[in-house]
Amino acid sequence: MNETQGSLKQYFANIREAVTSVSKGMGITFRAFLKSNGMRKQLGSVDYGAGPVTVSYPEVKDDIPLNSRNRLFNHVEGCIACNQCAVICPVECITIDSRKKTADENLDERTPAEFGSKPKKLKLLRYEIDEALCCFCGLCTEVCPTECIVHTPEFEYSKYDRDKLTYDYLNFKDDNPLPKG
Ligand code: SF4
Ligand code: SF4
Repeated sequence: MNETQGSLKQYFANIREAVTSVSKGMGITFRAFLKSNGMRKQLGSVDYGAGPVTVSYPEVKDDIPLNSRNRLFNHVEGCIACNQCAVICPVECITIDSRKKTADENLDERTPAEFGSKPKKLKLLRYEIDEALCCFCGLCTEVCPTECIVHTPEFEYSKYDRDKLTYDYLNFKDDNPLPKG
């Protein structure tokens, strides 16, 4: 085989390889297309099921898993200001201020039953979380003795101003709906 024949052979081998790889890629795309449109469930020996594989977000929102970790919320009526969440937080994004109660305050106050009826010995003065720093590890929710701090389903809370991502839960205000439960 002379040099010209070798180059020609390589030329056609490259074309063959390009056609083969494009065909494989398009095959994957076509199978995904069939699946997304629910046109058929079976292709060869593979069952792809039926129905769309995505939704038209944000007009349509998919269900998020129940145990997903999104924006935090502190039900402060259940908070005993024990500081455990702030101590365990790996990024130190929880700020708590509290003081001992004075005699003219309700020294027998307890958290509501849904938060374990724990004694509230301290007066909570400030409870803030900088959600811009939070890494959603969930440790604060794990250690909380009253389970008053929870991850909510809220994941759409982008802000133009970073400072607005610090949430003051004693004076909670937000343009997003308040999380429930
Ligand atoms: S989820 Fe993790 S990072 Fe976020 S506030 Fe709780 S402990 Fe801190
Ligand atoms: S661990 Fe729970 S009860 Fe203790 S300060 Fe944090 S949120 Fe409040």
